Amino acid sequence: MEIKYIVIVQCHIVTEKCPGFFCENAFTKRVGAFTEYKGNSHIRCITVSCGGCCGRAVHRKLSLLLKTLKKREGIEKESVIVHLASCIAFDNFHAPPCPHINYLKELIGVKLGLPIKEGTKISDLSEKRRSECLYQPRS
Ligand code: SF4
Ligand code: SF4
Repeated sequence: MEIKYIVIVQCHIVTEKCPGFFCENAFTKRVGAFTEYKGNSHIRCITVSCGGCCGRAVHRKLSLLLKTLKKREGIEKESVIVHLASCIAFDNFHAPPCPHINYLKELIGVKLGLPIKEGTKISDLSEKRRSECLYQPRS
């Protein structure tokens, strides 16, 4: 089914500093982890934080979002995909990957049955540091 709605999940701790511009910018320009959506100008996007460690609140947030999307917009869950922000998925300037990433994936992918992609903005500098083994490589 065609993807109609992207949910970017951001690290709650990082959002205390980061307004999320680079995630939004990567989505709008269809770069980084969003290149596959090039040509789809109708796709919508929302950003939510994980709610704080250990990430349990993400289940409640996404569960309500799915109900609302279906009721208000007629968008089925099969048309929704979750992107874990790069600050959750990859070693980067802020910190190593989220220590609860597998729990987040269990809540989102197993409990809610949503597809998950890792990453949003892909920073050239972080990629360089990964190639120099200063950061962990992306899996
Ligand atoms: S990936 Fe970057 S822009 Fe997006 S929330 Fe994390 S730190 Fe902010
Ligand atoms: S659970 Fe992970 S993504 Fe959420 S606040 Fe904690 S470190 Fe950040």
